[in-house]
Amino acid sequence: MAVVDESALEENFLGELIRPGDANYDRARSISNAMFDRRPAFIARCTGVADVIEAVRFARDADLAVAVRSGGHSVAGYGVCDDGIVIDLSPMRGVRVDPGTRTARAQAGLTWGQFDRETQAFGLATTGGRVTTTGIAGLTLGSGSGWLESKFGLVADNLLSVDIVTADGQVLTASEDENPELFWGLRGGGGNFGIATSFDYRLHQLGPIVVGLDTGFRFKVAGIDRTNNASWFYAGPGTSEERAMKQALHKGDASDLNVYSTTAGPYLGWAYFPSTYKTKPWIDGLVIDWASMLHTSTAYVGRYDLGKTGTHESGHWFGLYHVFQGGCNHWGDYVDDTPPQLIATRGCPEGQDSCSEPSLDSIHNYMDYSYDSCYNQFTAGQAAREDVPFAVELRDGGPGVMVRRGSA
Ligand SMILES: Cc1cc2nc3c(=O)[nH]c(=O)nc-3n(C[C@H](O)[C@H](O)[C@H](O)COP(=O)(O)OP(=O)(O)OC[C@H]3O[C@@H](n4cnc5c(N)ncnc54)[C@H](O)[C@@H]3O)c2cc1C
Repeated sequence: MAVVDESALEENFLGELIRPGDANYDRARSISNAMFDRRPAFIARCTGVADVIEAVRFARDADLAVAVRSGGHSVAGYGVCDDGIVIDLSPMRGVRVDPGTRTARAQAGLTWGQFDRETQAFGLATTGGRVTTTGIAGLTLGSGSGWLESKFGLVADNLLSVDIVTADGQVLTASEDENPELFWGLRGGGGNFGIATSFDYRLHQLGPIVVGLDTGFRFKVAGIDRTNNASWFYAGPGTSEERAMKQALHKGDASDLNVYSTTAGPYLGWAYFPSTYKTKPWIDGLVIDWASMLHTSTAYVGRYDLGKTGTHESGHWFGLYHVFQGGCNHWGDYVDDTPPQLIATRGCPEGQDSCSEPSLDSIHNYMDYSYDSCYNQFTAGQAAREDVPFAVELRDGGPGVMVRRGSA
């Protein structure tokens, strides 16, 4: 291994310099892909932009190979090198969320878990890595794909600007307005243009539940029947054809969910509340428009084509009302943690607020009428209410109620 005298760097470097033989050397040179067992001359753990500049200048003057490391998740092992210097930004974990402009400035050493924790404190989020321990830096510079991309686009689509230290030690900002060509390159070109020290991201209102509460309910497919009957296929709710279809096909008892895939008459789907079961057990279950399921048809493309009508209707089957039930009346949908809401949502209008209560409308809730891509949650209150039908056998007794999801 080459011997490097890093004393010239030490003078102006605030962070930690870790050398072979130091107790934490092996730990500091390890990356997530343990296939790479590389031994750098030293590791410069930067505390800020000035440290990064110093490290870059030193490496250039000493003609040293450089590896840049943030989250350490490079599968190809690019976050560590043999004999050169690892410029390690992982100690740089500052983040400032501005809820007013819905933006966040985050230093390059953050991981997505740390970033999400801060943005979620404000009920905000943006597309980030699927795994919490991946670094924001490498992932963003590679354009970044994540759980929220179908809703908010790639990470790079939400990137507003990047501060970067170039190979000659300059600090530049790249954005649509400043150094736009560099900005273009940074949104997918990886770590080839310099060392990114911080990123500005656009945020979106989402949460505190991001991927939805686990209600604890699970369904297991017990069987699938295929039936060829045109009048049943076109039947609407409350018709003699619906009756005939269900009397012929319904299976199981109150705890079995029967799902009928038809044209759902003029609706996207309909379901019966648990209370219907006692008088008409055969009518129980839900009917959904076959065209509302993923990859079946273009009829509802971009609106109701992700199969979430089924989730919405199953909410009714468990006993949930629409979140806009009761309008601004404080009883609302009889669930405490869904705010009163006057109108059924169309599309996905972020920030919709139809009542004077402090909270915004529940446009992401499965029990609204939003577009499928907008849905991502049931609340804890709904999960508790969903429990009621089974806990006290509410699926017995009470007048029959049918609820529909319209596609207007
Ligand atoms: C478990 C796992 C899960 C993943 N999940 C996803 C996912 O959901 N979505 C997705 O899009 N990708 C995912 N990836 C791929 C991941 O985005 C890339 O490997 C990414 O480069 C890792 O970034 P990092 O900062 O963690 O890694 P590092 O190893 O620190 O860096 C990765 C690359 O970026 C360079 N680099 C690091 N920091 C900087 C910086 N500040 N400035 C300039 N260059 C820098 C490094 O030199 C290296 O070439 C995953 C990878 C793993 C191992």
